[in-house]
Amino acid sequence: MHGPCVPGEINPSPLNLQCSIPPRFRYYPWLGLAVRQATCMMLPMTEWNFMTLLIVAALFLLWKLEFIATLLNLKTFPEKVPPELTGVMDESKLELGRDYQRVNAKHDLLQSAVSLTALLVFWFAGGFGWLDTFARSLTHSELGAGLIFLSIFFLGQSLLSLPFSIYETFVIENRFGFNRSTPATFIADRLKGLALAALIGLPLAAAVLWIFNRVPNAWLWAWILLTLAQLILTWLAPTYIMPLFNKFTPMPEGELKSEIESLGNRCGFPVKDVFVMDGSKRSTKANAFFTGFGKNRKIALFDTLIEKSTTPELIAVLAHEIGHFRRGHIKQRLAAGIIQTAAIFFLIGLATNPQGHFARLLFDAFGVTTISPHVGLVLFSILFKPAGKILSVILNAWSRRHEFEADDFAKQHTGDAAPLATALTKMTADHLSHPSPHPLRVWLDYSHPPLLQRLKALAQKNL
Ligand SMILES: [Zn+2]
Repeated sequence: MHGPCVPGEINPSPLNLQCSIPPRFRYYPWLGLAVRQATCMMLPMTEWNFMTLLIVAALFLLWKLEFIATLLNLKTFPEKVPPELTGVMDESKLELGRDYQRVNAKHDLLQSAVSLTALLVFWFAGGFGWLDTFARSLTHSELGAGLIFLSIFFLGQSLLSLPFSIYETFVIENRFGFNRSTPATFIADRLKGLALAALIGLPLAAAVLWIFNRVPNAWLWAWILLTLAQLILTWLAPTYIMPLFNKFTPMPEGELKSEIESLGNRCGFPVKDVFVMDGSKRSTKANAFFTGFGKNRKIALFDTLIEKSTTPELIAVLAHEIGHFRRGHIKQRLAAGIIQTAAIFFLIGLATNPQGHFARLLFDAFGVTTISPHVGLVLFSILFKPAGKILSVILNAWSRRHEFEADDFAKQHTGDAAPLATALTKMTADHLSHPSPHPLRVWLDYSHPPLLQRLKALAQKNL
């Protein structure tokens, strides 16, 4: 799925600015100390090799980098309303935005410190070896033990993040008036997610483990299987998976629909592929996205976006989404994902080869005696985290370029940059996003360029 297409909306949630470190932040160095203490206490508990040191150092550095980026980002929160936002944001809203960014930053830092500490404690208390032995004690089948191991590990990870998402939804988002999710919706979302993971994830995991246990050149076959699964899921998701979570209704008759029809005729995109999504079920935040391909492609406009925007603004946002489609961004990203999966599976092949030196080093580093594909998959995912970050920095830079291209497409096909500029500006103000995030934060995490850069580009490029 491509999107969201809102400035400052990133994964993880946007973090923001402040001119001096506020009092509530002063205890943050303790988080760093806690993580460091946990590392020092746990290190002697395992037979560690240089790989242990390398992975711990890389994980810690990555955590520290995120920490610094978060603080720098808070420091760069503007003191005064930027001229581009006057009219949509006043002093009190700017103050609210600063507070929102601060609360989110605090929450994110705490969550990343807790998950890193939990990982280090589990690792150095011999958790990986113990979990493998436990899974094997329940069944004689290698495949069965693998599925039990993976299920317990991923359930444990989800349970660890659950309190944070409850707090984020029902405390933070509630406090700033964004949350519309009820406990029933929240629980239903989690249960549906788990059911999908069991229905789709478990058979895929079983197939991958079977390939790695039985087939020569396993990485190649696993890659082919996963690529096919990814293509099928991307194709099916808009029609069969996304409706499990949201209602998609065709555009109702009216002025907006006829405007969309005329835009669609100019850009070669049929109006029947444009839907209204009930985003208001979970949040007041507005958005739009493009997803799927072939017959199952879909552009979704959130009902909250339609509620808050004028028709020219909606047409501009839609033209931006069509721009992603016409400029081939969806296909390019899918291709990049497929190449990335090939590289990852090749490395997983090395990490799980019982005769290989690399696999022995990796399993020793995590204190696991028996080399097996299921443990290898998890260990590799931890080893790959820092390298994955480098990859995501590159992919994010690429995605930001795509956003500029889609903005330019919208400008060309609507003949006017103003509606898109106001739509983006209104979304930034409504979502209390950081108007001018720190370059390090943008470089690390932003899949969309910050608002002011997009406005500048819209103003500069000629038609
Ligand atoms: Zn976009």
